[in-house]
Amino acid sequence: AGSIRQLDSRITAQRKLHMIAYGVGETVGVEFKTQFELLQYLNKIGFRISPEVRVHKDIESVIQEVKRLTSVRDSFPFGADGVVVKVNDIELQKKLGATSHEPRWAIAYKFPAEEAETIVKDIIFSVGRTGAVTPVAIFEPVEIDGSVVSRASLHNEDIARALDIRIGDHVIVHKAGSVIPEVVRVVKEKRTGKEIPFKMPDKCPVCGGPLVREEGFAVTRCINVRCPAQVKERIIHFVSRDAMDIESIGEKLVDQLVDKGLVTDYGDLYYLTKERLLTLERMGPVLAEKILRNIEESKLRPLSNLIYALGIFNVGKRTAELLAERFKSLDNLMNAKVEDILQIEGIGPVTAKSIIEFFSSSENRKVIDKLIKAGVNTSETLVETSKEGPLKGLTFVFTGTLKDFTRNEASKIVESLGGNVSDTVSKKVDYLVVGVDPGSKLEKAQKLGIKIINEDEFKKLIGYGGK
Ligand SMILES: [Zn+2]
Repeated sequence: AGSIRQLDSRITAQRKLHMIAYGVGETVGVEFKTQFELLQYLNKIGFRISPEVRVHKDIESVIQEVKRLTSVRDSFPFGADGVVVKVNDIELQKKLGATSHEPRWAIAYKFPAEEAETIVKDIIFSVGRTGAVTPVAIFEPVEIDGSVVSRASLHNEDIARALDIRIGDHVIVHKAGSVIPEVVRVVKEKRTGKEIPFKMPDKCPVCGGPLVREEGFAVTRCINVRCPAQVKERIIHFVSRDAMDIESIGEKLVDQLVDKGLVTDYGDLYYLTKERLLTLERMGPVLAEKILRNIEESKLRPLSNLIYALGIFNVGKRTAELLAERFKSLDNLMNAKVEDILQIEGIGPVTAKSIIEFFSSSENRKVIDKLIKAGVNTSETLVETSKEGPLKGLTFVFTGTLKDFTRNEASKIVESLGGNVSDTVSKKVDYLVVGVDPGSKLEKAQKLGIKIINEDEFKKLIGYGGK
């Protein structure tokens, strides 16, 4: 899905993608009696179809087939997480119809998660952006669901203790949701007595600073704000795509920038010079210029990206969008009181407290000053785009939650097609896109007679998806 959503089709073209067709939207001039006939037709006109498609006469035979496919799942030349059983007769499909979410004539059977046994070689501790110290099990590389895994997060001290995991243990691992490696259990019968029990460190493994575990919380933290591990993670977050989107700065570069003392926080990024960048390893003038250009471009990111980029505890993308929408400028947000923040629907007291604490830290204020002095955009402005595109001259407002996009993604798509996105309903607005649980904007738009569309209509407008 990530590849298909790429706005730049050249990037998508570089990825090695195959399309396996399994259905059609609307057809003109051809009719099919059965699902199987349809698939044969697709195959005939040049689409790939799944080599495992079979027609079965009764449910018993379907059950046998699902069992067979489950047992041979590893032999497929592609990763598969399950089987879909469909009613073959298209007339019957039509009779069965669909609920608001899915057709009644097709159902998915998910394979049980594949498990593998391996040996724990080490348990290391990584330090995140917020100082959280996470135990990570390192094991003998083992293949699960078609990829090799060699590490799994143990999340926190309590979970690691509950597993009673020890270095040298045999463990069963699987991929949660077919993606994230996880230790399921320890094979205690195989212990030899030489295993080394798990123990949280008492000092930060990166900076040697003190670690604190607050009562009632599972997380152990390094409380040194200058801890290089945290500084690096905060910068990596700051430059990430949904934040300031500084494409040419990756993890390795951040390592070097921090280790060589070129930056001590993300504010310093805006004061890098070509000369200083050229002192880094594997850095040439072309790359240095590109990095500086990307940094310069990031100054124009919307306010919500900036708020998200700051790395405030508990403030994710969605919360950042709500804050930007409400306060309109970083200055207003910095001067907001808890009561002001709590008035926003969807933001609770814990998050509000994190926001207040973040801005009351003089360290954080200093970093923000660097951003402001560098000319980073700190206010919500309706940018009049002069870009060409099918939505040129049209202004969109969103309300409620969309199913397939975040607010930010939807805005970027509109802008990439030449349209504008506003956060307030006014007579200048052409479309109000309504998601789940719309806010007061809907009523206002109705009063002003603005065209109101749902997510599906919005998708049609932007040419998204096949249906
Ligand atoms: Zn530390």
